[in-house]
Amino acid sequence: MTMRFLTANDRPAVHAPSWYAATAHALPDHPPLEGDATADVCVIGGGYAGLSAALRLAEAGRAVVLIEAHRVGWGASGRNGGQIGYGPRADIRWYEKAVGPDDARKVWEVSTVANGLVKALIARHGIACDLTPGCLDAAWRWRDEADLADYAAHVAERYGHPSIRPLGVEEMRARVASPCFHGGCEDREAGHLHPLNYALGLARAAAAAGARIHERTTVTALSDGRVTTAKGAVTAETVIVACNGYLDGLEPETASRVIPINNFIAATEPLGARARALIPGNECVADTRFVLDYFRLSPDGRLLFGGGETYGDRFPPDIAALVRRPMETVFPQLRGVRIDYAWGGTLAITRTRAPLFRRVGKRILSISGWSGSGVHMATMGGKLAAEAALGGSPAWDVLARVPTPPFPGGARLRPVLSTLALNWYALRDRLGV
Ligand SMILES: Cc1cc2nc3c(=O)[nH]c(=O)nc-3n(C[C@H](O)[C@H](O)[C@H](O)COP(=O)(O)OP(=O)(O)OC[C@H]3O[C@@H](n4cnc5c(N)ncnc54)[C@H](O)[C@@H]3O)c2cc1C
Repeated sequence: MTMRFLTANDRPAVHAPSWYAATAHALPDHPPLEGDATADVCVIGGGYAGLSAALRLAEAGRAVVLIEAHRVGWGASGRNGGQIGYGPRADIRWYEKAVGPDDARKVWEVSTVANGLVKALIARHGIACDLTPGCLDAAWRWRDEADLADYAAHVAERYGHPSIRPLGVEEMRARVASPCFHGGCEDREAGHLHPLNYALGLARAAAAAGARIHERTTVTALSDGRVTTAKGAVTAETVIVACNGYLDGLEPETASRVIPINNFIAATEPLGARARALIPGNECVADTRFVLDYFRLSPDGRLLFGGGETYGDRFPPDIAALVRRPMETVFPQLRGVRIDYAWGGTLAITRTRAPLFRRVGKRILSISGWSGSGVHMATMGGKLAAEAALGGSPAWDVLARVPTPPFPGGARLRPVLSTLALNWYALRDRLGV
C-alpha cells in the first residue's frame, strides 16, 4: 500500500504539536498487535468514527479489535476546530433534491440526533472536554446573509428546528468583533469542545466496555474479513474501515470517492481581557465560504483560528505565517499577536459533501468523507456502521443511498485532484460564485 497522508507530515505515533496535545488528559498506552487475532468486528482507525463503532460494538457484547497506525486521536479527530455541528454538512435543501423529501427528512433526523449523541456520550462517560454551547455562521458575502436567513426559516418550518436565529449585520458585529461579516445566524444546539480530549474519552469508554485497541499498528492490506499488519493479522466477521483523510490506497473504492485535504489551525498566546472582547458570547464561529475560516476561544483565553489554504499533500514549512494572514484580516486588532502553537491535519471530502456510507465487500463497511463536519457525523457514522455490523440499521441504509460519486480519474488521480479541487473551490470563494 502506498503511504502518503498517513506518513507525510507528522511524527509517527506522536500527536500533532497542537494546543490540544499540550492540554490533553493522560494518554493510556495500547500495545501494538503482535501475532494473529480473531474478532467479531475489526475496526481500522482510531478517530471518532472508529472509536464510536468500537464502543457501540463492545457495549453490545461483541468481540472488537481496533487497529490504529499511530495513537488514538492522532488523526483529524485529535486536532480539529472542535466545532460540533447540528444537521448535515451538505445543505438539507440539496438533499431534498438529490434523494427526495422522505429520505431528506431521515438524513435531517440522523444528523441532528448526531449532535445529541456527542452530548450524550460526553455525559454518560464523564468525558471532560470543555463542552460549550453556541455556534455562529458568519456571512462572508452580502448575499450569504439572505441565504442563511432562508435556511433558518426552511429548517424551522419543514423540520421544526427552532434553535437557528438569523443575525443582522449590526448584531453580528456585536457578537464577533470583526469588520468582515455581513450578518449570519446563531445555533444554540451547535457548540464546541476539546477535540482530542473527546477522542481520548471515547477510547477510554470503548476500552472499558471491552474493545481491544492496538496502537502503533498499520494495516498494510485488507481483504474480505481479513486485515493484515506488519507483525500480525486479524480475522473478523466484519471489517469497518474508518481512516478518512489518512486512508491513502488501503481501500480503492472508498479512495475513488473521497479525497484528502489539508487544513491548518493556530493558537495565539493567552489574550487576557482581549479574548472575550473578540467573541463576548464564547461561541464558535465559521464563515460561509467553502475554504473557510473558523475560530473560537480556548478556556485559557487563546484564539484558536483555523484557516489558510495550501495545495498538495505536504504541509507548508511555516504554518503560523499561513494562518496569521486570514486571522489578522478577520481581527486586525490582533496584528502582531504571538502565536504559541500552529499545526495541520488532513480531512476528507466527497464530491457532494454528503458522507460516504458504503459496503465495499461482502464483509467490509466503509465510512468517511465527513467534509469538515466530523465531530458529530463521524461519531454517528461509527455507531451506524456498528449497528449495520450487528445485523442492520435503517439509518445506515438511508445514508448509503445518498450519492457520493467517484471523482473523475478515481483513486489513481486523487493526489492531483485534491490539489485541483481545493484550488477550484478557493477560486469560487474569491469570485463569489
Ligand atoms: C484542521 C481541521 C479542522 C477541522 N475542524 C472541524 C470542526 O471544527 N468540526 C468538525 O465537525 N470537523 C472538523 N474537522 C473534520 C474532523 O476532524 C474529521 O471529519 C473527523 O475527525 C474524522 O474522524 P475519523 O475518525 O473519520 O478520522 P480521523 O480522526 O482522521 O482518524 C482516522 C485514523 O485512521 C488511522 N489510519 C489510517 N490508515 C490506517 C491504516 N492503514 N492502519 C491503521 N490505522 C490507519 C489514522 O492514523 C487516523 O488516526 C476538521 C479537520 C481538520 C483536519
